[in-house]
Amino acid sequence: MPHRATYIFGAVFALAFLAFACDRAPNQPDAAGAAGAATQPSRQLPLLVATTPMVGDVVSAVAGAHAKVVVLIGPGVDPHLWTPTRTDVLEILDADAVFLNGLMLEGRVGDSFARVETAGRPVLRLAQSIDRKELLTDPKRASYFDPHVWMDPTLWAMTAAPIAELLAKLDPQHADEFHANADRYEARAHALADECAQLISSIPSEHRTLVSAHDAFAYFGKRFGLEVYGIQGLSTESEASIADIENLVAHISSKHVPTAFVETTVSDRTIRALVEGCASIGHELKIGEPLYSDSMGRASTPEGSWEGMIRHNARVIAASLGGDNVGGHNVGAQNFGSQPSGGKR
Ligand SMILES: [Zn+2]
Repeated sequence: MPHRATYIFGAVFALAFLAFACDRAPNQPDAAGAAGAATQPSRQLPLLVATTPMVGDVVSAVAGAHAKVVVLIGPGVDPHLWTPTRTDVLEILDADAVFLNGLMLEGRVGDSFARVETAGRPVLRLAQSIDRKELLTDPKRASYFDPHVWMDPTLWAMTAAPIAELLAKLDPQHADEFHANADRYEARAHALADECAQLISSIPSEHRTLVSAHDAFAYFGKRFGLEVYGIQGLSTESEASIADIENLVAHISSKHVPTAFVETTVSDRTIRALVEGCASIGHELKIGEPLYSDSMGRASTPEGSWEGMIRHNARVIAASLGGDNVGGHNVGAQNFGSQPSGGKR
């Protein structure tokens, strides 16, 4: 079967890539030495390294003008599959503080973060700032948590204050500013949550079903009252089986779900299989505008901020499932204006 051939080719390619990536990201002492050498020129601002664009967004907003923020994972790159390059590892080892999502989102990162911690510099896993009872577990692996916490603005709001606390220790002179920035981020996140709630509640209740390529929307669905189905599991590393797709086809058709969504960081292959499966039993399933799940849009677009990506998703979902598509605000004007100052990609 062509699918099977694709999987095998994919697996071989993934292994080859892993081997290559491991080769490019050695975790030997010489890497630390090189990083040390890279720190020699005097540095005006603390260097803060963030993994995903969403982590970079909140760190930049809290730090304001008082740090250089480097985001390692570029827009449109899947964090589940990201492996740091040698340059990324050097950047991590050179940082004054490192910020990551945690909960195994950056599962292929190796021991770079542990080495930073061993060297006595702070590593903050933002998901750990969230009340544990709010975390969802992986339906397929009970000991794992769902890492997609940025999808719920109310939870993501909780990540700002601990960043401010950490930065205040690094740079006590600007502590008040960090705390004020965190308060502002939190307030805007809560306003965004209200806006999303309004949009999603405009969808007729029988249509509040969100089908997407992978399981990134459970927190969003829980907060705003959507039944959520991801074809792949919580990580894009897992593959959907034909049985998974067939079950979903039957469910979607019986509920007359009008639209399924592709994601900017995930192949649309499984969504297309779903559309074909639905068509074969007489249900027309449309493909909606792409959603931003594990990455933001490109810098300088409205979706190039965390706030813009979440608002885009809420508007697209609402409009495609029969609700309103206008939240009452201009997307561009609502951005935090917090593009990571030193983002290299
Ligand atoms: Zn994901």
